[in-house]
Amino acid sequence: MSKKREALGDAIAELLEDVADSGALLAYAYAMEAEAAERYEELADQLARHNNGDVAELFAKLAVIEGKHAEEMVQRGSEFRVTRRAPWAYRWLDPEGPEVVPVSELHYRITPYAALTLALYNEQRARDFYALLAARSPSEEVRRLAEGLATEEEEHVALIEAWLKKFPEPEPDWAEDPDPPQSQ
Ligand code: ZN
Repeated sequence: MSKKREALGDAIAELLEDVADSGALLAYAYAMEAEAAERYEELADQLARHNNGDVAELFAKLAVIEGKHAEEMVQRGSEFRVTRRAPWAYRWLDPEGPEVVPVSELHYRITPYAALTLALYNEQRARDFYALLAARSPSEEVRRLAEGLATEEEEHVALIEAWLKKFPEPEPDWAEDPDPPQSQ
């Protein structure tokens, strides 16, 4: 086995051990949904400022959906004793680089296309996270809960994919970009 595969295997084993029961899964899910809600609100704000009204509305809607999800986790969690995970347990990532670019610093790139791509990547990551647990967890309650959560995230993936089809990948000199990048 290569070093990389070995490391991945270790990370998965660690995760499966850490998410030992429904309470632990709900704590992860809470962190993920709350983070998503926050990022969507930021994206909605930025898009609204740059006159991308439709997409701003979509992100505002997604922020509400994910916010409700987060609340749901806490309610369901009362049965399962949710311990809230530290914020670093889950972070939105930029698909373009290993270093995490805070969404708030992406102003000039926040075209509808860039915002939707970022959201799609993170929704896919959430879906894959739940799908992995649904497939591999030794705990039946974790598998069942994770399967439901994976299905919900799959719906978000499909929704964002449908929106992404409306926006072609922008050219570097995209005429409608009101705030072009400084370095090219
Ligand atoms: Zn989602």
